[in-house]
Amino acid sequence: MTTLKHDDPEVWNAIQEEAKRQQETIDLIASENICSLAVQEAQGSLMTNKYAEGYVNKRWYAGCANVDTVEHLAVQRAKQIFGAEHANVQPNAGSQANMAVCFAVLKPGDRVLGMDLSHGGHLTHGFKKNFSGMMYEISHYGVKRETGCIDYDELRNIALAFKPKLIIAGASAYPRIIDFKKFRAVADEVGAYFMADIAHIAGLIAAGVHPSPVPFADFVTTTTHKTLRGPRGGLILCKSKYAKQIDAMVFPGIQGGPFMHSIAAKAVAFKEAMSEEFKKCQQQTVKNAQAMANEFVKKGYDIVSGGTDNHLFLVDLRNKNITGKEAQILLETVNIVLNRNTVPYDERGANEPSGIRIGTPTIASRGMDEKDSVKIAECIDKILSRPHNDQAKRDVKNIVKDLCAAYPLHESGACPSTK
Ligand code: PLP
Repeated sequence: MTTLKHDDPEVWNAIQEEAKRQQETIDLIASENICSLAVQEAQGSLMTNKYAEGYVNKRWYAGCANVDTVEHLAVQRAKQIFGAEHANVQPNAGSQANMAVCFAVLKPGDRVLGMDLSHGGHLTHGFKKNFSGMMYEISHYGVKRETGCIDYDELRNIALAFKPKLIIAGASAYPRIIDFKKFRAVADEVGAYFMADIAHIAGLIAAGVHPSPVPFADFVTTTTHKTLRGPRGGLILCKSKYAKQIDAMVFPGIQGGPFMHSIAAKAVAFKEAMSEEFKKCQQQTVKNAQAMANEFVKKGYDIVSGGTDNHLFLVDLRNKNITGKEAQILLETVNIVLNRNTVPYDERGANEPSGIRIGTPTIASRGMDEKDSVKIAECIDKILSRPHNDQAKRDVKNIVKDLCAAYPLHESGACPSTK
């Protein structure tokens, strides 16, 4: 980065500070990860210079031979990883992937059934200030109060009464296996399209650690930067019969020229996702989340649904005399970064919710294991149970420092698996 350092020291300096922050922080944000240097190199390449409206071999611009090569690779690899009939790798983010599917099959005012945001759903699944909530009539299903797991009977009953045109499965804060087959059955019963948004669990699905929705869903959308460990971006998978509709809605429907540098980086990440090391890392991600959740249970914390099957879990702090926001702020002072989150049936709002969401993709990508995860859970407990104890803060800061030093990020972010 010598050119950047010379030409724009302010931006260069901020990037150096961010590299230091990432190196010295235990990152437990469930939607984040560390992509490889190879992904970063492709993302930072001069492919960003190229306009390429259209698709492979069907561009509106000249000079597209090389970007065609990378988009073709990205599409083929995405289809291979997930066993999908068709892939569109152009969505700039997960939200655009969801928007493209909605616009492709729905008219304004149509009915959509998605998971309640406060039970773990995503903004694009019907939040009133999101395009989805503004344009469509929305109904929500959620989780059972007693189990914290999706209430499939309620889902079916709501679908029978509401008659949605689209049913969305998928979540941003749901710790259990999602039964996509059950969603398909409900969609068939009411004649709805079925979209599975696997943004959070795509890496786990690619590695066979979570069942795939591809055999059951009409459309599967995802981000590429969470467990999938690629560059920031989106991806749509669908049956061949919807290919034309989806492609036309991504471009020219809702986007212009695709981000070819991101598509190149997606291709690299998809290649990595086929490796044995990636599979091991995804397995470790789940083991870490389970080890950490078990430790919290042992220490008397209330974990939504009692544990986790995936890369994240939710700690309900209502019996701990501390809010999720207070916990988030406090933990950041000792270099443990996570986010506050509502828990199902939360009496508090989204800004001062009662819970925290803990995810393990980043620590697994750094090489940390169950032993380290238990250590991190102990650190969090030490801080949350003694919020005003300066000695506890000093002790935890030292443990975090040692852990981060033991698992270096290597320059600006290579994972151990891609060294
Ligand atoms: N879908 C789910 C389930 C998500 O969790 C997210 C992001 O957190 C998105 C979609 C949207 O992704 P993006 O932030 O890339 O628009």
